Amino acid sequence: MRVTFLGTGSAMPTGERFQTGVLVQEEGRTLLIDCGSGVLHRLQQSGVGYENVSTVLLTHHHLDHVADLLPLMKARWLAGEDHLEIVGPQGTKSLVDELLAVHEYMQGKLDLQLREVHPGEFSVAGFDVSAYETRHSLPCLAYRFGDLFTFSGDSEAFAGLANFAEESAILAHDCSFPDDVDVSNHPTPDTLGRELAGREIGRVYLTHLYPHTDGRHEEMLESIGTHYDGDVRFAEDLQTVSIE
Ligand SMILES: [Zn+2]
Ligand SMILES: [Zn+2]
Repeated sequence: MRVTFLGTGSAMPTGERFQTGVLVQEEGRTLLIDCGSGVLHRLQQSGVGYENVSTVLLTHHHLDHVADLLPLMKARWLAGEDHLEIVGPQGTKSLVDELLAVHEYMQGKLDLQLREVHPGEFSVAGFDVSAYETRHSLPCLAYRFGDLFTFSGDSEAFAGLANFAEESAILAHDCSFPDDVDVSNHPTPDTLGRELAGREIGRVYLTHLYPHTDGRHEEMLESIGTHYDGDVRFAEDLQTVSIE
């Protein structure tokens, strides 16, 4: 399996990190998780291209995870790709319907398949996926792909999510802010480190980074390392991780 971070930023721009998008590929299958602002460009830069993404799996409906959905639809339509499947938590159908109601001229351009999923097991784009409800300001699902990859979506750090991710080869986890930012709905390195403590995880990548984290990576890793002694790194846009 190959996981490519297309966007490792969040709702406030850093100038370098685009909003959330993660590409999961295995044996010819391709799945895009989330489609925030900038992801359409990153898809192009990644060499995969928007033409090769026919399924999008959403963690939740915040703008920084869905902003490029309509641009993706339009680009696919212009390129002669006539379909797109959009899968996400409850409310995904009405989200897409309402986006299309605002941009009426996009209605009927693509053969859209909309599907809502719930915590538990399902299959998407040929991948078997487990979903787990996170702790965030909107309903949000974390996704796990067998023993290989878990993506936290947006979430506070908490034991249930750490249990869900345990024994993944790779975990990509929201780590939006450094410790001195008073935050809810997202973790800080301290809270994340405490919940990861003692877990068996191959490697953790930190993502969903606000500009507050710029220049503070060392101290953030040290803070996590106070509690958790595993391999923790910062994800970067367009970085690909191969998982065996
Ligand atoms: Zn969010
Ligand atoms: Zn977000």
